[in-house]
Amino acid sequence: MVKNFDCIILGGGPAGLSASLYAYRAGLKTAIIDISAIGGAPTNYCEIENYLGFNKIQGFELCEKFENHIDEFEIKKFPYEEIESIDLISPIKKIKTKNCEFSAKSVIIATGAKNKKLGVIGEIENIGKGVSYCAVCDGAFYKDKIVAVVGGGNSALEEALYLTKHAKKVYLIHRRDSFRADKIIQNKIYSNKKIELVLDSIVEEILADKKVDAIKIKNSKNNKRAQLKIDGIFPYIGLEPNIEFFGTQLKLDEAGFILTDVCMKTNLEGVFAIGDVRKTPLRQVITAVSDGAIAGIEASKYIINLENVTIRK
Ligand code: NAP
Repeated sequence: MVKNFDCIILGGGPAGLSASLYAYRAGLKTAIIDISAIGGAPTNYCEIENYLGFNKIQGFELCEKFENHIDEFEIKKFPYEEIESIDLISPIKKIKTKNCEFSAKSVIIATGAKNKKLGVIGEIENIGKGVSYCAVCDGAFYKDKIVAVVGGGNSALEEALYLTKHAKKVYLIHRRDSFRADKIIQNKIYSNKKIELVLDSIVEEILADKKVDAIKIKNSKNNKRAQLKIDGIFPYIGLEPNIEFFGTQLKLDEAGFILTDVCMKTNLEGVFAIGDVRKTPLRQVITAVSDGAIAGIEASKYIINLENVTIRK
């Protein structure tokens, strides 16, 4: 049997949870579908220090607070639903998952983004054997070991700091000699004795014998090559959007992020995109929840303007 809603939100991270709250409160029969657990990427962040109102909070704890808040309302949650097909073009949107069929008058896409891969030999084949994209999940396996973090953004620097709680040494490898991460995080990196900076360097290969034991790096200024003995490597070199379900239905930027206007509207009627999956100048929890609020309200305005729609009293 098809499950019918006014508004379906794809993705239960901070953006999606916020959208559900605003859509529900505007009177829409609202559901969230997520391919995994509700909570989104920040459940795997160590500490969040820039969400207003919380000086320092674990990512998991903040997401739990978000979910507890929406659980006060009749917002339906469908976690662990893998999308098989989706039609966003028809006036009534249709979503088919492995277990269910859904229809909705409006869809808010909040599917987020995933870590980009380095694309070097030894990376994919050693995921789970020394290559990890989640320091919070796997950091404890590296107690008193040597790890490398790759990247120069907020993620790389924050996760490098987190890994010093477990590892005896953390190489922070970056392709340039300056970081793009916030200055406050950079200062913590410079004063941490467990972190050794490997600048102007790129990883060329990950070496493993059953599990990762070394990496080959090249200095991009003098072209000198070196080998570093490590037990694990954590690439944090940016994000790519989770858009594989949508085919060619949506307009994207050159990197694949969904294009929206300031009201979070995509090129398709009744379809909105929010959070990390959309083209945005800032990817933060606080901007994701702000996007969600706008989209929830805009979805309700869109539905009110449709004919023959009964909004929940
Ligand atoms: P990011 O800001 O895009 O940084 C990616 C880093 O990886 C850059 O330093 C980049 O180098 C480097 N890089 C890119 N491609 C590479 C390659 N092929 N090989 C080697 N290095 C490569 O990504 P992010 O750190 O994952 O952050 C994503 C977004 O989330 C950002 O908007 C960030 O601010 C946000 N975020 C915020 C927080 C927070 O505020 N607490 C925490 C985490 C993430 P270049 O600098 O040379 O381009």
